[in-house]
Amino acid sequence: MTIGTTVLGYPRIGPNRELKKAVEAYWAGRIDAAALEQVGRELRTQTWQSLEALDSIPSNIFSFYDHVLDTTAMLGAIPPRHKALGLNDLDTYFAMARGNADATPLEMTKWFDTNYHYLVPELGPETRFRLDASKPLAEFAEAQALGITTRPVVLGPVSFLLLAKSTEPGFDPLELLDLLIPAYEELLRQLHAAGAEWVQLDEPAFVTDRAPAELTALSTVYNQLAGLSDRPKIFVASYFGDLGEALPVLAETPVEAIGVDLVHGRIQGLAGITALQHKTLVAGVINGRNIWRADLDAALAKATTLLGTANEVAVSTSCSLQHVPYDVERETDLDPRLRSWLAFAEQKVAEVVAVGRALRGDRDEAAFAAARTAIADRASAPGNTQIQNRVKALQPQDEQRGDAAIRATLQQDRLQLPPLPTTTIGSFPQTGELRAARADLRAGRIDEATYAEHMRAEVARVIRLQEDLGLDVLVHGEPERNDMVQYFAEQLDGYAFTIHGWVQSYGSRCTRPPILYGDVSRPHPMTVEWATYAQALTDRPVKGMLTGPVTMLAWSFVRDDQPRSQTAYQVALALRDEVADLEAAGIRIIQVDEPALRELLPLRQQDRQSYVDWAVRAFRLATSGVADNTQIHTHLCYSEFGDILPAIDALDADVTSLEAARSTMSVVADLAGGGFARGVGPGVYDIHSPRVPSEDEVESALRITVNALPVERVWVNPDCGLKTRNYAQVEPALRNVTAATKKLRAQLG
Ligand code: GLN
Ligand code: ZN
Repeated sequence: MTIGTTVLGYPRIGPNRELKKAVEAYWAGRIDAAALEQVGRELRTQTWQSLEALDSIPSNIFSFYDHVLDTTAMLGAIPPRHKALGLNDLDTYFAMARGNADATPLEMTKWFDTNYHYLVPELGPETRFRLDASKPLAEFAEAQALGITTRPVVLGPVSFLLLAKSTEPGFDPLELLDLLIPAYEELLRQLHAAGAEWVQLDEPAFVTDRAPAELTALSTVYNQLAGLSDRPKIFVASYFGDLGEALPVLAETPVEAIGVDLVHGRIQGLAGITALQHKTLVAGVINGRNIWRADLDAALAKATTLLGTANEVAVSTSCSLQHVPYDVERETDLDPRLRSWLAFAEQKVAEVVAVGRALRGDRDEAAFAAARTAIADRASAPGNTQIQNRVKALQPQDEQRGDAAIRATLQQDRLQLPPLPTTTIGSFPQTGELRAARADLRAGRIDEATYAEHMRAEVARVIRLQEDLGLDVLVHGEPERNDMVQYFAEQLDGYAFTIHGWVQSYGSRCTRPPILYGDVSRPHPMTVEWATYAQALTDRPVKGMLTGPVTMLAWSFVRDDQPRSQTAYQVALALRDEVADLEAAGIRIIQVDEPALRELLPLRQQDRQSYVDWAVRAFRLATSGVADNTQIHTHLCYSEFGDILPAIDALDADVTSLEAARSTMSVVADLAGGGFARGVGPGVYDIHSPRVPSEDEVESALRITVNALPVERVWVNPDCGLKTRNYAQVEPALRNVTAATKKLRAQLG
């Protein structure tokens, strides 16, 4: 059997977040394992039904938490601290994912450049693999029983090792390759025995820059696996970008099929790889990551170009559909015109089928015509020429502020801050009362005015608390914000929202990204009332708090009909107006958060500079309209700042707060080395942990910073917003922060 048409994966959280509800109920002890398994079975059955029209249907794409964790469990690579818990398989699995009182969880990190997070395997010289293929086998058998022969999907061995972290310094998980290959050989044998014709092994790690030894590993693995006699045909899939030099390497191995992302990767050069002649090329021509209806003609043309290149050209999505919601037809509240431009997972399956059939000469004219009509309609929709012209008319001086040193002096004259000024990142805990007020508003039990009254009371409380704690620069606490992107998106023109459009962020956590579909503009000031209300309650400066343009894009589904840079500039101009309004209202410090700056960094080095250029420009457009004595802050999350330090510097913010506590202040060394010349606040404790840091801990973190950086530039703050914590943790933690700061100040004289 050929692959024909397929998708690389499908959403698994459930159309109504059934999986989220079930795992959370299981964790809370409200349902048992059998009930949880039952929900899993129902979701898998539904998914296979949705995929019926495809020639090759994947299995093992379901997961109770994360597919990388599934692989770790399948390979028996369970860290000793989790094994020691002596739990059954399912509970060991969840302990690795979430930790418990006796064992910390696996680390979680971003899945390539998506907003999905996977659990990082922990491997060391002591790691030994022991295959337990029961999950892929059971899911394969389950589909067989429904009359569907599926293609099991498993994370490939090389990517598994490359995505892992080493438990010992100096040890490279790739050294485990020889031990790992036999486990995969055994897996292939067992799948073959069960009746699998194909297996899909994902090797996404090869769309990033790779060392020669890593390419060699790829070659070794697939020569060896393909050398087995009792095995399914092997389909090596890649996604999120171009395989680059890994493609010819893979093509030289005897695997039967290779999947390439032709949305984010290049098509040029494929024809020159003669080794593809004997293989199936799985052409990822339908974008699996965005929500826009595909140009079927263009997708078909791409696939057609490849016909002479490979033995078979199969049609697929560019990546798993797990990054898009299920079904756009359910979005009955969306403007019908906008809805007609969109395709979610279910619609994308139909697009793959239409292109695949057309490639074989069986063309559904109606489907192609409908796509053409939708795309033409989208292109003809009126834009906002005023904002377009404003972007066109931008001048270099629009992104420039005065000299940073002069700014610093003017700001200090105005703000009169003590040395080592203390502040927080913006949000304070979301209390039960706040959540109840939001629920009451949604349910119509209270009106907008009553709701706003609750929020104002909270702001007043948070201001009093900060004064009492002795913080120097205050925040209003963000009680009115459900989400830092959605809050602004809801107030901007050019954004729309779904009701059911959930996508998995990690485990049971889902987000519903807003849709940035049109030209962005700001009909009204968005935060000025809150900021001025808070400022009126205190003499200390209150920071205005905005979400930056890059983050507004990163956590939304963004239009694909113009470069992202253009969209970012439009958002930046809306923010620039907001910044101006805040300044005019007497707000002396304005923070523009860019936690996602690192996240959008392209996977390959060669693409990074052009991203950094527009990202920095967008931030500067948003923040450069103010007087020199208005202080601009920014905040960035997620470690590994080393890569983007020059970009952070180029933002030209007066003060930058950074997550640092989890990377044991290593960012401080980077900053010191990088000659960072403006204010900087490396977080003095980790807010992601419920632990309250002692005064001594805070003091030693602060000492590291003060020893490395000029004291007059150092700010003191936690390493992220406090909204996920509670007051029992936040109050003592901040008390220790201000106490440690006082102590250091006294010593500095
Ligand atoms: N100002 C935001 C907050 O404190 C920043 C959140 C973030 O960095 N992700 O919640
Ligand atoms: Zn943060």
